[in-house]
Amino acid sequence: MRERITPLFSEAQIRARILELGSQLTQDYAGKDLVVIGLLNGVFPFIADLVRAMELDFDVSFMQVTSYGGGMHSTGEVHILKDLDLSIQGRHALVVEDIVDTGLTLFKVGNLLKDREPQSLKICTLLDKPSRRKVQVPVDYVGFTIEDHFVVGYGLDLEGKLRNLPYVGVYHP
Ligand code: 5GP
Repeated sequence: MRERITPLFSEAQIRARILELGSQLTQDYAGKDLVVIGLLNGVFPFIADLVRAMELDFDVSFMQVTSYGGGMHSTGEVHILKDLDLSIQGRHALVVEDIVDTGLTLFKVGNLLKDREPQSLKICTLLDKPSRRKVQVPVDYVGFTIEDHFVVGYGLDLEGKLRNLPYVGVYHP
């Protein structure tokens, strides 16, 4: 598997960008009642590094939705597998995602969360592939904008594997 990967963002590049995002978020959410919401599974390395770059007090909770059926193409259907374990009503919600591709996942998750009446709802993603968008979703914080590549590593998987790579690379099937 690993021999089919071309490195795209190194550990050091990712770390540097997350420190920038962290200080931006620290400024933007100062004095606010914040809930950081991670979308499992792919977000785990990113959210672990991001929350440690934010010098604020906030809650962290996770949701799990399905999008890819284990292959390389989105099914377009999203199902909630695990829900938040806290209320976001009247609070500031920040959804953290590994990558925004078609936007369908965040569109669905965004609508579901808006029904819970947060005071604000914003999105932070490590990677953004705007050329693949099928529905428009406002992405407020982006680590890196990328071309239409299938990427793996740093949480992003190929059929469940490669999430543990410390860098992000392009997978060549
Ligand atoms: P969307 O609903 O925006 O099409 O897709 C979001 C989800 O699809 C991401 O959370 C991720 O799990 C998966 N995904 C989209 N693009 C890629 C990619 O290039 N590589 C990997 N490994 N997963 C992707």
